[in-house]
Order: sequence, then structure tokens, then C-alpha cells
Amino acid sequence: MAVPDDDDHHHLVFICTPAIGNLVPAVEFAVRLVNHDSRFFVTFLAIDIPGTPLVNAYTQSRFSLSLSQDIQFIHLPPLEPPSPNLYNSYIGYLSLLFESHKPNVKNSISHLQKLHNSSRIVGIFVDMFTTAFIDVANDLQIPSYLFFASPATFLSLMIHLSKMDHDRFNALILDSDAEFVLPSYVHSLTVNLLPPTLSTEDGLFWYAHHGRRYGETKGVVINTFAELEPHALRSLDEVPPVYAIGPVVDLGGPAQWQPSHGTHQSVVKWLDGQPEGSVVLLSFGSMGSLDKDQVREIAFGLERVGFRFVWAVRQPPKTKLEHPDDYSDLNDVLPEGFLTRTAGRGLVCGWVPQVTILSHGAIGGFVSHCGWNSILESLWLGVPIATWPVYAEQQMNAFEMVKELELAVELRLDYRKGSKLVTAEELETALRRLMDGREDVRSRVKQMGEKCRTVLVENGSSYRALNSLIDKLTAQIL
Ligand code: UDP
Repeated sequence: MAVPDDDDHHHLVFICTPAIGNLVPAVEFAVRLVNHDSRFFVTFLAIDIPGTPLVNAYTQSRFSLSLSQDIQFIHLPPLEPPSPNLYNSYIGYLSLLFESHKPNVKNSISHLQKLHNSSRIVGIFVDMFTTAFIDVANDLQIPSYLFFASPATFLSLMIHLSKMDHDRFNALILDSDAEFVLPSYVHSLTVNLLPPTLSTEDGLFWYAHHGRRYGETKGVVINTFAELEPHALRSLDEVPPVYAIGPVVDLGGPAQWQPSHGTHQSVVKWLDGQPEGSVVLLSFGSMGSLDKDQVREIAFGLERVGFRFVWAVRQPPKTKLEHPDDYSDLNDVLPEGFLTRTAGRGLVCGWVPQVTILSHGAIGGFVSHCGWNSILESLWLGVPIATWPVYAEQQMNAFEMVKELELAVELRLDYRKGSKLVTAEELETALRRLMDGREDVRSRVKQMGEKCRTVLVENGSSYRALNSLIDKLTAQIL
């Protein structure tokens, strides 16, 4: 693909964490940008890592099919992973890997500059964990920007951690019920809502490191919108300008980038035969998996409550650096006879086309791990969530959705690996609240779904934020 060689074109380079929750919204944002303003051209530099079959499926499909003639994808040469004795968390592993890719990224961008000398690179976009490439941007004297795929509340935590005394923090987190005040939340949080990785030695170090580096960028583009997180966005007054351009949602989802995946058509066909709003979707994200005891408890809960369901169950990865995969035989994990007893009333699947399912009229509720993309999808499609966080910043997102915004039904807020099991009774109670239609949450979610659309049209808050960002990106080359 040829980068247009003319002075009117503005070239941007994105380098993202190879994780579905980070990469997909960044690509969708780039698509929105080039569709909004035809002067932009975008190059994604892709870092491949082993043990991530979903990310590979996404990059292979999206990168081979031309998304737009204004976006190109280039794979960076693979590198040896960092030595295991240098990290003890996944974020530590990723951060060190990105550090080692700096020469690779610098070579690729220098090459792009030589190849297309009249189409200037006006910005390098990093994401929440690829801040190492801010150094490359500085070396090449190109402005850097942050694309942040999580909520403003979490951005605030990252920045806050970078300013905190870590000895004090480590003492604080010894008590999981201790209170923690963050300016982006109206209510105080308890320590057990903080990301589980912060209790690892290098988890805290790397979160704070990345949070500190955000301040070096020329602007922060965040996948949220003013009407959704007004308080949190207002609290971010010490960072570079923040552009709340969301919601960016990949409405095609995996059905588009994994069209041959077996479950897609069969799930939709099954949903076609179910009454409106009668089915609950249970899905725990691209990296979520639960222990066998917990899976069995969910199965008992679904049998007790009797609602129709689609349930995405994934197998825990064999090593810490891999992502979950589908079970080859679900009978290995489900209670005996469960599939027969629930036949016709529910589907148990592996990876599902989540956004396609959520957009089906038969879906009435969503038990979600509260990843930010899943939250935005549920709001866009007006499907209320019952919160079941598992990893990353999901406990904070669940708290925000239930307590701060009153846009979700509480199932658990602080669940994580090693938590007390969510019992069948607990699940049954939450599902009744979610599905019986008496909760005000459903109508508030529908209203927020309407706002998701109005903010994106001319004069909407996110539309205006996108235009301000474009002014900033293009002003530097006048
Ligand atoms: N997703 C999906 N099928 C699944 C699980 C997840 O299509 O079985 C999609 C989901 O629609 C969302 C993304 O994967 O777009 C997950 O992003 P999110 O931020 O919700 O969570 P993460 O995976 O980053 O924890």
C-alpha cells in the first residue's frame, strides 16, 4: 500500500499492546479518524507475541484485508522474550519486551520517513503499556500521543500511582478493606478494588512508570465521553490535554475478523428462535477464565434460575504468558448431564462473537467481566450488565458502573483469582434483578445508549473533541 506522497497528507504511526482490548479500539479509532478527515494516513507497527492466538487471528485478518486505503499494517521482526527473572507479572513481561523493541520501532519509522519524505509523520501514538516508544518519538523529534482504551477513572489511577510514595502504598494494600481516595471517583474505593497486579512487586513499579510517562505526551486520546464520565474527566487536570472521543466500538467484532469461526452462525441462528429479551449472555473477556469449581457453580446457578443463556467458557492458560483458549471437551469442566439438562435452553460456547450476540434482540442481560470495551458495547446496545470482574482494572470498572454511574447491577465488585466462589444462589439473585425488568438500571442504560450516538454526531462532545485533536495534530506542521 502506498502512503500518499503529498504535503497535504498527515501520517500517524500507532504502536499498541498486542491484546484484543487495546489493539481493536485503537484500530477502530484510526478508521474513524481517516474517515472523518481524508488528510490522514495511519501505519500500525504490530508487535507479535507467542501464546495469543486471538490477537494473531485479529492481526492476520485485519492486516491482510485492507480496512481502508488510508491504513497500513507492518509487522515488526520478532525478538527474544525478556528473561523470566526480570519480571514477576504479565505487565512486567510486556513492558520489558516493548523496551527491547525500541531499535526495531525506530528503524521502521526512519524507513517510513525516508520512503515518504513529503508525507510527514505528525504523531506517534502509544498506548497504556507501550510508553517505551515515547523515547523513539523524542529521538526522531515527532510528537507523541497516548491512546487510552480504558476509562478516565483508570487513567487517573495510573497517574496517581506515579506520584504516590510506594512504601506507603505497599503498607496500605496489606489491608484489603482499607479506603483509598482517588479524585476521579466521587466515592472512596477500598483496596480490594485495585488491580490485582498491583500486589506484585513489579506490577506497581510498571503501572507507576507508565502513568508517569503519560505526562510526556502532547495529548491523551481516551475511549470515553464527557456525558459518561463527567466527574472523572474533570478530575484529570494535571495531564496533557485529554480528548474524550468515545465511544469507539468495533460493531463488526469477531464475526467480521474471524468469519470462519464455527460458533458465529450457530449462536445467531439459535438466538433467532428465542423470545425478545429472554437470554442472558455470560462472557469474561479475551483473557478471562475461571477455575473448575467456579464454572460448576455457574452451571448450578443457571440451572436453578431457569433463564435462557449463552455462556462463553474458556480454559485457563497453561502458562502465565498465554491467554485462555477454548475447551476441546466442555464435559471436562461442566457438571455431569448439564449440557443434556439445559439443551434447547442454553448454549455453552468458547470464544463468541460478543458484539453480534449483544446486538441480537433476544439478549436481555449480560454477566460481564467489565472490561471497558465490553462496557461500551453493552451501553451502545442498551443491554444492562451484572458485574463480575476478574482481572486488570475490572474491579474498579465494576465499582464505577454500579456505585458511581448506577448503570449496572451488582453481582460482585471485587472478585479476582482466589476469591470466595460466587455461589449458585448469588448468581441466581443477580440474574433475577438483571432480567426481571423492574430495575431502573435498564432504562438508564438505554438512555446512555442514546447518548453514545448523540456525542458522535456534529456538535456532540466527542465529535468536537475529535476536531480539537485534529487541529492539534495538524497545527504542528503549519
Ligand atoms: N470478546 C468477544 N468474544 C468473547 C469475549 C470477548 O468478542 O468471547 C470481545 C468483546 O466484545 C470486547 C473484547 O473482546 O470487544 C474484550 O475487550 P474488553 O475490554 O471488554 O476486555 P479484555 O479482553 O480487554 O479484558
